Amino acid sequence: MKRSNRSWAWVPWLLPVAVVGALALAATLLANPPRHLVAVVLGALLVVTLGWIVASVLWPARADRRCPGCGNDSVERADVEAAHGLVCHACGWHDEASSAWILAEDDGLPLEGMVLEQRKAPAQGVDGADGVARGSNVDTRPADA
Ligand SMILES: [Zn+2]
Repeated sequence: MKRSNRSWAWVPWLLPVAVVGALALAATLLANPPRHLVAVVLGALLVVTLGWIVASVLWPARADRRCPGCGNDSVERADVEAAHGLVCHACGWHDEASSAWILAEDDGLPLEGMVLEQRKAPAQGVDGADGVARGSNVDTRPADA
């Protein structure tokens, strides 16, 4: 990875200056409150909120399919019938425990069937592969009576 020759180490030193500047601005505003400050602040909040909504509608979020192993955009769901498990078809990287829910949503297929199938399946513990529930509070020892 190529790094820039320009050093940004001085940037954190601006924080104390910004804090002192904010305190001075607050003191000035409290000493001489502008007449329309509330309207300006509420208007700015409204503009920012509406701008966020418009940007979210026009440029919706997409699933990140970048592989942590090779960096290609080739990560897909390991099982099209499940909402967990990711696999990279470029390098073979896989993670069975990762959530694939956002990829399932991004694929645009109906998710109701997958959710209902997972509800029908017998409950499994966190470790799950052997079907033995773990962390349960149910006492499974035989009764002494
Ligand atoms: Zn990969």
